[in-house]
Amino acid sequence: MPDYFLLCVTALLGLAVGSFLNVVIHRVPRDESLVHPGSHCPQCGNPVRARHNVPVFGWLMLRGRCADCGNRISARYPLVEAGTAALFVAVTARFGFSWELPAYLYLAAVAVALTMIDLDVMRLPDKIVLPSYGVAVALLAPVSIAAGDPGALLRGALAAVLLYALYLVLATFGMGGGDVKLAPLLGFYLGWLGWSAVAVGAFAGFLLGGLVGGVLMALKLASRKSRIPFGPYMLAGAFLAVFAAAPVAGWYTNLLVPIA
Ligand SMILES: [Zn+2]
Repeated sequence: MPDYFLLCVTALLGLAVGSFLNVVIHRVPRDESLVHPGSHCPQCGNPVRARHNVPVFGWLMLRGRCADCGNRISARYPLVEAGTAALFVAVTARFGFSWELPAYLYLAAVAVALTMIDLDVMRLPDKIVLPSYGVAVALLAPVSIAAGDPGALLRGALAAVLLYALYLVLATFGMGGGDVKLAPLLGFYLGWLGWSAVAVGAFAGFLLGGLVGGVLMALKLASRKSRIPFGPYMLAGAFLAVFAAAPVAGWYTNLLVPIA
């Protein structure tokens, strides 16, 4: 039974976090400060007024144009905010009001930032990925220990090592270094949920990446040689596993062992 009040609160939290992620997505790849200067129009440099800095609604109020110079403001800003809110609501519906909720909301925020940055500049910045190892362990280890279930923690650690090793092997075939460093983070989160989540998450990432890459090549939008950012598929696969590991695992099994 979903708690509608909690879902509304996380939707608002998601909008606010999404607004911050827009700053992260723009500034982290450029090595700029996240706090200074405040939000400003890239065209005229005028600061964004507080009432226009409200997620999604600010952009709608301005009809996608700067209040000062009329320069177009990309629709991706409100889309990132709305997308983060939607993912936050879905994660909250999945975990309910629980101790692991903050850990998976954090993963959702990281996933949005990394997906957009990888699509923009084909990088998964260390500045986001590496500290996330610590955040993930700090948020999930106490849950596991308090619940008297160190198994989840151990499984997470093992899955992290396993996915890291897998991607390290793939790196010799050209998989990017950023993807190799993201793998243990996703391994830890999925391992914490269970082995079927690890299997579904890893496999779904390759499946999604392969499908999209195949479609792009068929449409001549990419060639065998073009580099395709793989981070978004790893993250999408991981979230597919977070939301639906059990049904997807059953579906895989049916595919492999068709019911006569
Ligand atoms: Zn302007």
